[in-house]
Amino acid sequence: MTQRMPWVKPALTPHRAGGMNKFGAVRPQQHQPELDGAAIAPLLEQYGSPLFIVSEKKLRENARHLRRAFSTRWPKVRHGWSYKTNYLGAVCNVLHQEGAWAEVVSEFEYRKARALGVPGSRIIFNGPWKPAGILEQALLEGATIHLDHLDELYAVEAIARRLGKQIPIGLRLNFDTGHTEPWSRFGFNLETGAAMDAVQRIGSSQWMKLAGLHSHIGTFVLDVRAYARQARIMAEFMEAAERETDCSIEYLDIGGGFASRNALQGLYLPPDQVVPSFEQYAEAIVDALSEATRGRTALGKPLPVLVLETGRAVVDDAEILVTRVVGGKRLPDGRRAAILDAGVNLLFTAYWYNHEVRPMQPLEGLAEETVLYGPLCMNIDTVRASVMLPPLNLGDALLISPVGAYNNTQWMQFIQNRPAVVMVMQDGKVEPIRLAETLQTITDIERMPETLRSPFPETQPR
Ligand SMILES: *Cc1c(COP(=O)(O)O)cnc(C)c1O
Repeated sequence: MTQRMPWVKPALTPHRAGGMNKFGAVRPQQHQPELDGAAIAPLLEQYGSPLFIVSEKKLRENARHLRRAFSTRWPKVRHGWSYKTNYLGAVCNVLHQEGAWAEVVSEFEYRKARALGVPGSRIIFNGPWKPAGILEQALLEGATIHLDHLDELYAVEAIARRLGKQIPIGLRLNFDTGHTEPWSRFGFNLETGAAMDAVQRIGSSQWMKLAGLHSHIGTFVLDVRAYARQARIMAEFMEAAERETDCSIEYLDIGGGFASRNALQGLYLPPDQVVPSFEQYAEAIVDALSEATRGRTALGKPLPVLVLETGRAVVDDAEILVTRVVGGKRLPDGRRAAILDAGVNLLFTAYWYNHEVRPMQPLEGLAEETVLYGPLCMNIDTVRASVMLPPLNLGDALLISPVGAYNNTQWMQFIQNRPAVVMVMQDGKVEPIRLAETLQTITDIERMPETLRSPFPETQPR
């Protein structure tokens, strides 16, 4: 007797030839079995899946590239590594070894930098809340502090008075560049006069002296004209502040925000075509700065140090996330879906980016539109809403990139534990830089009230 095939609900499958779609030729599927020469499959065996992998080589290359682009154009350049972009200790120390200072925005980040061995004199302390204790410590340790609001200005003045010494201080500014949505919530606004009021307030105090100006105009800023305008506005404000109060500004800190080579959702062109290079950012910024400071050298006044707080553009493409397929299904509309062991819990940036997805091993078959879901029991857990991939099988590994910026700081311990992070070192060895969380990691800091010790207290037999 022949066995009957099981009945399967019919579904519509839109036909898409693997070679073409309405935008033209589909790129051939590239697979990637290694990173910097380190085979990925054995790493998954050893450290489990999902797994973050950082490239020390790429990180150093990016840091050097940034420095070269600016220091070949401007005499004095400093990079402050933005901790909130990725504060894994090993990542920070690679960048510190490349000469970067630490740019921190909270007590936790300040302490983290100090714990890594960064002296206060190489820490830039930004952010809207610097609690009194850490503010005083930072002042004592010679950190560069950027005032965010007047209460903070008064707090710094009170500490300086108590210490009996004059403290150099920086001011965070905000203004409209005309090319970006202005961020008015941090620092002192220039157009309303609040910034110049603060300059005068500092100038009239014997306990503070204005040493620098800071602003951070946004993040993933694709238009280099925004930075040119920012540099000019800050340089002009520097001249005005020096005229008004007899201070001398040592540095202009233009913050971070350079775009990384990631595909922002809603952008039609690929990142290679829309993301400016470090050289293009540098050219625009230094041109504007040179022009706005032309009068300085004639007067014998030194040029300000140019401080960069570049975060995402340095780290994003130095890290990948490897994830495995744990299930698959056909959606009612005919699209194919795969369930991965990594979702938005680890990939916060999936809300904004269409990350590149590459199989670790070559996949057979025609590419077809596929939805990639994460493991969370949450409807918005989508890693890619639509990506062309050949059929995926259970256990297939996919490489998601670039993921170095903001994911290892904004990841959540929600439903799943956070996985391990390893670094491929320059010599090709692979080192763990953060261990996978376990149940113990989470329960270690929980406490159980005595009366709740047992989930099912002894009940009287009926
Ligand atoms: C977040 C932040 C940065 C880094 O921004 P990127 O977009 O990652 O380059 C730099 N400076 C300040 C003050 C920040 O808040």
